Amino acid sequence: MPELPEVETIKNALEKTIGETLIEDVIINNYNLRQKIPYNLREKIKGASINNYQRRAKYIIIELNNDLSLIWHMGMSGKILICDNLPQQINKHDHVIIKTANGFMIYNDPRRFGLFTYAPTDEVFNLKLFQGIGPEPFEKTFNGKYLYERLKSQKLPVKAAIMDQKNVVGIGNIYASESLFLAGISPLRPANSLTLEECNVLVEMSRKVLKKAIAAGGSTLRDYEKPDGNLGYFQNQHCVYQKSGQKCPNCTCDIHKTGGIQKTIIAGRSTFYCKHKQK
Ligand SMILES: [Zn+2]
Repeated sequence: MPELPEVETIKNALEKTIGETLIEDVIINNYNLRQKIPYNLREKIKGASINNYQRRAKYIIIELNNDLSLIWHMGMSGKILICDNLPQQINKHDHVIIKTANGFMIYNDPRRFGLFTYAPTDEVFNLKLFQGIGPEPFEKTFNGKYLYERLKSQKLPVKAAIMDQKNVVGIGNIYASESLFLAGISPLRPANSLTLEECNVLVEMSRKVLKKAIAAGGSTLRDYEKPDGNLGYFQNQHCVYQKSGQKCPNCTCDIHKTGGIQKTIIAGRSTFYCKHKQK
């Protein structure tokens, strides 16, 4: 599933390659995403120009010059391909094709959990999609004190808590394991057992991990491809994610005694950590 760094990477690539330009046409091959694509979407956006690209949580918001904005979510398996020309053969999972003066954006989503819709620009953030979600990880409002106050009434494992979009958006499964490893905090700890100091460190480490991943162009995992066709390479830099049994980087644990990086399941998701470093 694309996480925050991947979505940020897609947004940056669209900004760079498609940019502010005219939408010449829209071809919708399949309206049946998790939430149906509005039937009048083509007539609403054809002929409009793109003014701006934004990301909020894992949504890309494309502001048009006709007071409407497109809202795009990649779901579980979606990706956006950017091409100069329309491919000879349309893939059966290419649900939406947007033809602009600067090239094509093709939305491909085999599992169709994504979302593609529009709303009046000044009402976008009032939509239900954006209600009750926490701050962005790079916003000032996401800080150690905020996290401490949020977590002190939550008994679930801290890993599940930092993945809860109501607490903070954009820390998905990979980055939750990685951030907790760098912070030296066990993913199994009840969220309300963290001290203010630990919350400070955790905020700092989650930013560090996300920044590094954005700089590397996001992680390349099974369902993800950068829109320009290049593959991201952050997975090569993961410290613990999907590295069970291996020695953890910069840690003094003795792999023969500890068995290396451990894998466990928290809230249904694979979790990786070092028992020695993370308390
Ligand atoms: Zn270790």
